[in-house]
Formats: sequence, C-alpha cells, structure tokens
Amino acid sequence: PKTKLHIQSLKSMEDNKTDQSTKVIRSANMDNLRTGYLFPEISRREYEHFEKYPNAKIIKLGIGDTTEPIPECIASAMAKQAMALSTVEGYSGYGDEQGEKALRKRIAEKFYKNMDVKWEEVFVSDGAQCDISRVQMLFGSHVTVAVQNPSFPAYIDSTVILGRAGNLQGQNGKYERIVYMECTPQNGFFPDLSNTPRTDIIFFCSPNNPTGTAASAAQLRRLVDFATANGSIIVYDSSYAAYISDGSPTSIFQIPGAKQVAIEISSFSKFAGFTGVRLGWTVVPKELSYSNGFPIIKDYDRIVCTCFNGASNIVQAGGLACLSTEGFQAVSKVLNHYKENAKILREAFRGLGMEVYGGQNAPYLWVHFPGSSSWEVFAEILEKTHILTIPGRGFGPGGESYIRVSSFGHRQTILEASKRLTSSLRKFNFN
Ligand code: PLP
Repeated sequence: PKTKLHIQSLKSMEDNKTDQSTKVIRSANMDNLRTGYLFPEISRREYEHFEKYPNAKIIKLGIGDTTEPIPECIASAMAKQAMALSTVEGYSGYGDEQGEKALRKRIAEKFYKNMDVKWEEVFVSDGAQCDISRVQMLFGSHVTVAVQNPSFPAYIDSTVILGRAGNLQGQNGKYERIVYMECTPQNGFFPDLSNTPRTDIIFFCSPNNPTGTAASAAQLRRLVDFATANGSIIVYDSSYAAYISDGSPTSIFQIPGAKQVAIEISSFSKFAGFTGVRLGWTVVPKELSYSNGFPIIKDYDRIVCTCFNGASNIVQAGGLACLSTEGFQAVSKVLNHYKENAKILREAFRGLGMEVYGGQNAPYLWVHFPGSSSWEVFAEILEKTHILTIPGRGFGPGGESYIRVSSFGHRQTILEASKRLTSSLRKFNFN
C-alpha cells in the first residue's frame, strides 16, 4: 500500500501541469538532471510486480535502509531528552548551530583518536546527504569535480544542481565537465590516478557505496598525495566506516597530510540505525584553505549558520548515547547482525558461481553479471525470486553489468532470500 501511494503521488505530480503557470523559468541546472531518478523507478517496478503477483512476499534488498530496532539505551536517552523539554528546568531552544560541544568532543575522541582532529572542527548535522550539498555550497560554479564511477548519486546530482556538470552526453551517460574515475575489479575498485585529470574537488567514498569495497592505507596515501600535488580538495564520505572489518582506514585523517587537503563527511545512519532519526557530521580541518590562504572552516561555519540551524537537541542526546560505552556496544551488536547477513548473501551468490564484491567492509554486495544489462538482471531476479535489488546502472555508467544487494534485513528475511536465490536462480543464464 505504501508503494501504491508513492506511485500515485509521483504520477499526480506529473499530471499537475496546469494552465496556471507562473512566469518563473525553471532552472537549467534542474533541467539538466538525469530524468527517471533511480528510486522512484524501482518503486514503480515494485508496484507493477505487486500487481502481477499480489500474493508474493517481496523481499527488499534494494534501497539500503536499516531494519533493526535502535537499542533501548539509545532510544530512552532521546525519550528522556524529549520529556525534559516539557519542564521549566529541562527546556532548551536553539542550540549551537555547529552542534553541542559534548557531542562534538565525543565524535572527535571516538572516531578520530590519534588523528589530531579537534572538536571545533566537527560540525554536527542532520545527516551526510544534507552535508554533501552544504559542502558543495562552499565552492563556486566554476569548480571542477571528480567522482568514482560507479558512485553514490548525490555527488553527481548536487554537482549538476549547482551548474558545474556541463551537459549530459547521451552516448555514454556522463556529464561532460565531471571526471569519472573508473573503479573496476581490474583496478581493485581504486582509480588509476596516473590517468586522472586534475579537478578542484574529488569526491571519494570509502567503504564505497555501491561497490562495498574499502580503500587500503596505501591507496589512500596515493589519493592524498595526488590531491596535494594538484592542490585539490578531497570530500571523503566515510558513512560506512563502522562496517570495516579488515583494518582498512576508517577515516581519511589516518593518512598524514590529509588535514591540508580533505573534508570528511560521515553519518549515524548506518552506524546506529539513525536513517529516520537523522544525525551526521562533517570535519573541516583548520589547516584546509583556499588558494588565497583563507581558511575553509570559516566559510563552512557561515554556511552552517545560514542554511542549517543545528541538529535536533533530542537527536543529539541519542548521538551521545550511541557513543557511551553501553550504547557503542549495543550498536556494535546490530552492526554484527548486518555483517553476518552480508556473509549469508555473499555465500548464496558465490554458490551460484557469480562474482561477488563487497560485503566484508560494507553492508552492500556488488554482484557482477558480465555482458548483461543491469536493469535486465534486476528484472530477472525480481521475476524469479520476488527479491528487489538495485540495478548497478543507477550508480552511473560504471555500474552497467552489476546489481547492488543490501544486507539490511531481519535474519529470517535474509535466510529466506538466500534460499530463494539458491533454488530459483540456478536455472538461469544471465548471458
Ligand atoms: N553517503 C553515502 C555513501 C550513502 O550511501 C548515504 C545513504 O545511503 C548517505 C551518504 C546519506 O546518509 P544520511 O542518511 O546520513 O543522510
């Protein structure tokens, strides 16, 4: 029913073209966005499938949304803060736009131990997605941008919205002014920097969504050296750092010299099941400056004060509880649950003889179907198993013959998915 409503509302938006238009011209940048955004299209296909098989139990391993309850000690810290607002002593209004000092300090201590990140460099926010756009606002429309290919769509879409992308080239699905850093199994999903043109900004996500791979310390050393040599700024997205299990760096600031060339964006969403609660942070080092020497942190502070007004005080209490000893242990248990799910799904796909990447350092599997179209594979899997995945093409042209499979789910659901995959897919040849 939720899907049906969603589809109806999308349709009614399209039908709402009335004769009563304003005289305001639509932004050419919005016009330049790729149409048929991924998630609405998946919802549409899901709804069609639901109509065709009303009794099928659809399993959603598509959109990477967390499924397990928030540990009680964290939820009750938020409840306590909410109730305090109903008392004279406990009421508080606007807080610091940059976040509560106690939480900024805990984030610096917990995630950036021995990395010389100061609490004043941590800006608490309502999530990484919003911070990607706030960071983009730091720079003018002339700056050049590089992204991993494939990549999380928000980097490209926010670049297009701000008018930096150039035209979409029909033949290869790429924007002409964006540099696409190819990440394939052949290069271990780390771009060949010797072949990468200089850009002002380099978006880099590790562990990566969608490929599920984490860059090693040696690879990140090369990235920082590359940015230093070119005078570029890395915007490093570490939203999935909590999933790292093989000792890969959890932050770009583990690499000496990174504070001169990098901003890091991160999130409580996948770390603590806060996708709906909304909490994240961005680290802007004091050392990072523009070409004229002006500190970027000053501009970021200005943007946060202008476009945001601080994260919810209730949610920040939840964030602090996540970083207490008890909260951290509870959250780690939930993370282990998702990691175990990833293992189960990885074994299911491997058992079918498929090439599977990711899953060890991230909640996503990146499954390769060489020579096949990702939308076709998506459709085939949905038809045969009633399992929703994401066609790799939604993450850029580099995702064409892949699907992304999320390991967020209740254990029962994941075991059922594994069973369906194993019994139904064996018969199919995707080539
Ligand atoms: N960055 C990456 C790489 C993501 O995959 C996501 C969400 O899926 C986000 C950022 C958004 O995170 P948040 O929920 O904190 O806005």
